Amino acid sequence: MECKGKNPSIRCTVSQCAHNMGSEHYCTLNTIDVGSHEANPTMPQCTDCNSFVKKS
Ligand code: SF4
Repeated sequence: MECKGKNPSIRCTVSQCAHNMGSEHYCTLNTIDVGSHEANPTMPQCTDCNSFVKKS
């Protein structure tokens, strides 16, 4: 589900994502799905935002 503006609870600098409010570095979704591509994640780099959609 999409908010009208930024979600102040989700900061994000991935400006290539269609859900990103690039000017303010926030996500515009109400909720996001976060996961990992690792079996045993040990650092931030092991995690992924699975709600990412490439900006067209
Ligand atoms: S969906 Fe994920 S990657 Fe995209 S703006 Fe929101 S938090 Fe960032």
